Amino acid sequence: DKGLEKSKENFFGKLSKAVAGKSKVDDEVLDNLEEVLVASDVGVKTTIKIIDRIEERVAKDKYLGTSELDQILREEIAGLLSETGSGEATEFVVPEKKPYVIMVVGVNGVGKTTTIGKLAHQFKQQGKKVVLGAADTFRAAAIDQLQIWADRVDVPIVKQSMGSDPASVAFDTIQSAVKQDADVVIIDTAGRLHNKVNLMNELTKVKRVMKKVVDNVPDEVLLVLDGSTGQNAFEQAKQFTAATEVTSLAVTKLDGTAKGGVVIGISDQFQIPVKYIGVGEGINDLQIFNKMEFVDSFFK
Ligand code: GDP
Repeated sequence: DKGLEKSKENFFGKLSKAVAGKSKVDDEVLDNLEEVLVASDVGVKTTIKIIDRIEERVAKDKYLGTSELDQILREEIAGLLSETGSGEATEFVVPEKKPYVIMVVGVNGVGKTTTIGKLAHQFKQQGKKVVLGAADTFRAAAIDQLQIWADRVDVPIVKQSMGSDPASVAFDTIQSAVKQDADVVIIDTAGRLHNKVNLMNELTKVKRVMKKVVDNVPDEVLLVLDGSTGQNAFEQAKQFTAATEVTSLAVTKLDGTAKGGVVIGISDQFQIPVKYIGVGEGINDLQIFNKMEFVDSFFK
């Protein structure tokens, strides 16, 4: 699998070093393992959780060989991902009710626009009618970039001039989607991490105004995070989950990082399922997150 190769080598390489010359899982091995997990961006809290669970198994079985550690780690990581619903290999399922509205949040540069373009392409390939809304109005470049993707995928986009009210763009987009009988609406939003209250106000207003056109939207709030940014991704997850109810995650740039552990830590700490991963810049480089494939890629 093209995308995840880098995560592979590195985690497995480090893990091998952590157990080198040891036949039994002891405190030293666990300490080394803890370091490896933290260095792979799993995050301290989730790392401790994993180590605790392994310690429990060591205590129960009295003896645990390092040769079994791989398998046990896999089980524990897969277990953690399951607890949040991550990686059951389900995509967004568009219901009968139209339009299905996905509001996309995340800071500039994480790959938000690219992810929207790739998603739009997937829906279009499924025969769905898609409309994009450019409600990240703070930067002209954000609107332009979304336009480029709309052209590439060949879907309509609703936009206004830079600096216009994001909620107004969202309102127009939903209205236009209803008029066109569109199946799916993907709304780009606030790309800057201004202070918490502003972020919350902006996202809350966008949601409120959309509901004036169609009840109970958005159906999904998808937070896009850059998987190569480690602690920054954790911090962004914290800010956005505090500002609005995030229902799912897309983690990008896993092709370019040795630190795919972000996926494990963030879904665990925020209890939000990872739905998609970005593994390249191309239109087809968005994969439905598959838990077992991901775990395997760590250990191969
Ligand atoms: P935005 O500012 O969050 O909308 O970010 P963009 O969508 O414009 O993406 C920023 C940069 O990251 C662009 O150069 C994209 O091609 C690149 N990018 C986005 N997703 C991925 C990915 O999954 N892998 C790689 N390697 N690059 C990506």
